[in-house]
Amino acid sequence: MKNIGLIGGMSWNSSMEYYRLINELVSQRLGNLHSAKLVLFSLDFEQIRDAQDEGRFADVAIALTEAGRALQRAGAEFLVICTNTMHKFASEVESGSGLPLIHIADVVGKAIRNYGVFRVGLLGTRLTMEDDFYRERLKENFNIEVLIPEAKDRATLQHIIYDELCQERVEASSRRSCAGIIGRLAQRGAQGVILGCTELPLLIQSSDVAIPLFDTTRLHAEAAVNLALSEG
Ligand code: GLU
Repeated sequence: MKNIGLIGGMSWNSSMEYYRLINELVSQRLGNLHSAKLVLFSLDFEQIRDAQDEGRFADVAIALTEAGRALQRAGAEFLVICTNTMHKFASEVESGSGLPLIHIADVVGKAIRNYGVFRVGLLGTRLTMEDDFYRERLKENFNIEVLIPEAKDRATLQHIIYDELCQERVEASSRRSCAGIIGRLAQRGAQGVILGCTELPLLIQSSDVAIPLFDTTRLHAEAAVNLALSEG
């Protein structure tokens, strides 16, 4: 079994989900007392968030790359960044750490194409929805068309993610807002919706809405286990 390197803490609530899912999957596949071999480097999210807000992206890239290097020294064989948003810096982290990385957008892109759809909505932080690092990768690598919510809905999601879910608050009213946003994307032609923020599955699941949801936390954790248990 390969040793997984997790860059987490953004937020720690969703990193816990990665830890749980990865271990559950390894236990299901290998049985007995098997559990995942992994190393977690958990960052202080307040510092990362401040740097994001102030547009100090070079500082964020340096912090993530240093985490990746520390994981490499600790024996990790590949990296998993436990947030969609921070994949903005995936190539810097990969080249700076010298370790291969499982890109979350590639994992979700494959899942969407396997499901057989090609036009999806994207829910996530403002940066994930508005920047092109995520949408362009889905377009270029998988020919998937990505719709993002209207500005007011993007602001609502930003508030729900950082002021509630990242701070352990799961509100029924926010679940309803989120379901409304998904419904509006479906009306605009989305055949499914990416939960493109690793905390969103704490709030909303497929049973809450009428169209398929692609849960990036679960898909990313599954891809990590697949690679960890693969030969070679
Ligand atoms: N966990 C969130 C995500 O998946 C946001 C945290 C961040 O700003 O990195 O995008």
